[in-house]
Amino acid sequence: MADFDVLIVGGGIAGASLGAEIAGRVRVGILEIESQCGMHATGRSAAFWLESYGGSQVALLSAASRDFLANPPSDFSDAGFLRQRGDVHITRDELPQLPPGIEARVVEREELERLVPGIRRQWKRALFEPGCSDIDVAGLHSAYLRRFRRLGGSVATDAALASATFGSGSWTVRLSDGSTVTTGIIVNAAGAWADSVSLACDIQPLGIAPKRRTMVQLRVGRSGLRDLPLVDDADGTFYFKGEGDRSIWLSPHDEIDSDPCDAAPEEIDIALAIDRFEQVVDWPVEAVERSWAGLRSFAPDRIPVYGFDPNAEGYFWCVGQGGFGIQTAPAAARLAASILLEKPPHPSVAQLDPETFSPRRLKLS
Ligand SMILES: Cc1cc2nc3c(=O)[nH]c(=O)nc-3n(C[C@H](O)[C@H](O)[C@H](O)COP(=O)(O)OP(=O)(O)OC[C@H]3O[C@@H](n4cnc5c(N)ncnc54)[C@H](O)[C@@H]3O)c2cc1C
Repeated sequence: MADFDVLIVGGGIAGASLGAEIAGRVRVGILEIESQCGMHATGRSAAFWLESYGGSQVALLSAASRDFLANPPSDFSDAGFLRQRGDVHITRDELPQLPPGIEARVVEREELERLVPGIRRQWKRALFEPGCSDIDVAGLHSAYLRRFRRLGGSVATDAALASATFGSGSWTVRLSDGSTVTTGIIVNAAGAWADSVSLACDIQPLGIAPKRRTMVQLRVGRSGLRDLPLVDDADGTFYFKGEGDRSIWLSPHDEIDSDPCDAAPEEIDIALAIDRFEQVVDWPVEAVERSWAGLRSFAPDRIPVYGFDPNAEGYFWCVGQGGFGIQTAPAAARLAASILLEKPPHPSVAQLDPETFSPRRLKLS
């Protein structure tokens, strides 16, 4: 018998949430190359839930995740993970189109000045999306890992998949320290490393492209910002939200092709972010308190991928979470678990079509 039924490569939000959904039903382990889980994309996000983000298929996953995030089961967490702040999509001319069914209303200039004091004159109006909320990402990720361990799952850190071969119904996985472990199924939840992990398993990659995004924490000469709505523009060239009383988190909405790596911000992107910010509000920029960057990873059609590889036995993909992997995690994990275990889906995701997310759409056998 193999050591595991399922071995998940990657201990970010994708691996942890799927692991927590299947632990207790199969023998499952997580392999994480770093000394702790969550050091890459999961630990570097902007931490918001925004239903309109990522297009209509992603919006279905975000909507199906909301109830779990707001009111998690009591054996998962004592408190919810969301704090509502709303989002204003500001525009100089045309209002943005949101996917169907998303609650939003038009805000004219007078109200916009109340929502974002000091906003410059060229921003004429906005679409206000009240449901936008902050997510307690660290709390959610650790609650998933806690549940995973409680149900018998094991997490190995400082443990990298170096290669894997399939034979006689199971995988033999070689770790970077030279040891081996066997498993019936490998789950690729390796984020930016999705394609390199597949190559190490001799599986044809899906074309998952990592793209760098920069975040800057700015101190500004204006107070009362903590509860500011998320502010973004209809053309997708920046977003910012209140962090402390006089500080904000800002991104230039960059999307720069990258190899998988420990991403770091570039001076030029920080400067670009500040330049764009100064065109939105008249708040003096006092200091860059900190900056960071992370890799958002996309399938060619920008829809995440959950499902068995059509050409390889025992190989499951859970990748391409783009800029929405936290806000979609509860629904994604439940959907992926039902596909992986070949069981009926949890009622919260029963309306989702697994074919939309299947790797078959990217790999014609
Ligand atoms: C700046 C930024 C802002 C974002 N903002 C938001 C937001 O507001 N809301 C939202 O929902 N999402 C947001 N995202 C996206 C979100 O962070 C990601 O979609 C999500 O974290 C992806 O999770 P993951 O588990 O797939 O990847 P990761 O967290 O990167 O985890 C993959 C793990 O695999 C491990 N690994 C790789 N190779 C191996 C190997 N060979 N062996 C063992 N382990 C391996 C890595 O070390 C890593 O820990 C943002 C992302 C960025 C970068």
